[in-house]
Amino acid sequence: MKSVRLEQITKMFGKSRAVEDINIDIKSGEFFTFLGPSGCGKTTTLRMIAGFYFPTSGKIAFDNEDITTVKPNKRNIGMVFQNYALFPHMTVFENIAFGLQVRKLSKSVIREKVEKAQEFVRLVGYGDRKITELSGGQQQRVALARALVIEPDILLLDEPLSNLDAKLREETRVEIKRLQVELGITTVYVTHDQHEAMAMSDRIMVMSEGEVQQIGTPQEIYNKPDNHFVASFIGESNILEGTIKEVSDNHVTVDVGDGILLKGIRENSSPHVDIAEDKKVSLSIRPEIIEVGKGSNSIQGKIQLTEFSGVSINYLVKIGNHELNVMIINSGSNILERGDSITLSIPENSIYFMSEKG
Ligand code: ATP
Repeated sequence: MKSVRLEQITKMFGKSRAVEDINIDIKSGEFFTFLGPSGCGKTTTLRMIAGFYFPTSGKIAFDNEDITTVKPNKRNIGMVFQNYALFPHMTVFENIAFGLQVRKLSKSVIREKVEKAQEFVRLVGYGDRKITELSGGQQQRVALARALVIEPDILLLDEPLSNLDAKLREETRVEIKRLQVELGITTVYVTHDQHEAMAMSDRIMVMSEGEVQQIGTPQEIYNKPDNHFVASFIGESNILEGTIKEVSDNHVTVDVGDGILLKGIRENSSPHVDIAEDKKVSLSIRPEIIEVGKGSNSIQGKIQLTEFSGVSINYLVKIGNHELNVMIINSGSNILERGDSITLSIPENSIYFMSEKG
C-alpha cells in the first residue's frame, strides 16, 4: 500500500481558486478523511490525487514517486463515487469484472478475483443480477467491489454513503471500515458529515474555502480545535471571547465580560494562540464537560430552554450576556425548567484556548 504526499497544492479554475496551498502526508495503510462544508475543495483535492485534474501548482507523490501529471489509469487507484457510476445494463459480475477485462486478464483469473471481491462485500450469489435489481446499499457494495478488485494501491471514496438512508448508511460505514482494516489499504475519504469522519478516520483534514483548517486524529480535532471554524464545525461548542487577565505558572485567567473570570490551563491551547496578559483569546467549551453544581469556575445562570433527548438533557443557560449549551447525561433525576436558577462549574482542564475569531 502506498503513501500519498501533497506538497503546496493549489488548483485554479480560471480566476477562481478552488484549493490553496494544501500540504499533507498520508501514511501507507492510513484512513484519511477530507471533511468540510459544500464547496470547500474536498472533491477537487481528491480528483487531483486520482489524476482527473492536474494541480495548477504543487506536487503529488505516491511513495515518493512524483505522479503529479501521470494519467489516472496509470496510478493504480480504486475510486467510488457518490452516485456509484455503475453500468446499469450490465450484471453485478460484469460490473465488478470491468477493470480486470480492461487489463486483459484471462477469464479464469477474472472469475476468481471477482468471486473473491463478491465475498469481501458480501454479495456472493448476486453475480447474475442486473444493477437495476439491487438496493442502493447493494449497488454501493458493487461499486466498492469494482474499486477493490483491481487491487489498488490507494482507495479514493467520494461521499460514498450520501445516497443511502440513515440505517443503511451506518451499516455500510461499518462495512467500509471493516474492509479497509482487513485489507490495510491506504484510503482517502471525502465527506461533509462529521460523525462519519470521526467514526472512520485515523486522521481528518478539516477544510474551509479551499484551505486547510486543521489536520489531526478525531480526538485532536474534537478536543483541541485550532480555531473557531473547527470548534463549531465539529460537534457543538460554546465559544467565548475574552481578554487574558493573568498568567501564572500554568494557569491562565480570562475575563469573558459581565464580571465572569474563567480559569484554564496554559497547555490546553492551540499552537497558534498567544498566551500573554491583555491578549484577546477565544475559549472552546464543549457542552458535555460542563457540570451542574459548585466546583472550579463556578457560575450562576438561568435556564432559558430545556430539551430532553432520552440519553441526555440539554439546557440553554443564560449567564450574563452569554448563552451556554450544557449537556447532562440523563440519570433519571429531576429536570430543571425555563426560569430555574442553576449553578454550573467548568473543569479547568476542559477549557481550550484558541486564537481570536478567524
Ligand atoms: P461538495 O461537498 O459540494 O462536493 P467540495 O468540498 O467537494 O463540495 P469542490 O467540488 O472541490 O468542493 O469545489 C471547490 C470549489 O471549486 C467550488 O467553489 C466549486 O464551485 C469550484 N469548482 C469545482 N469544480 C470546478 C470546475 N470543474 N470548474 C470550475 N469551478 C469548479
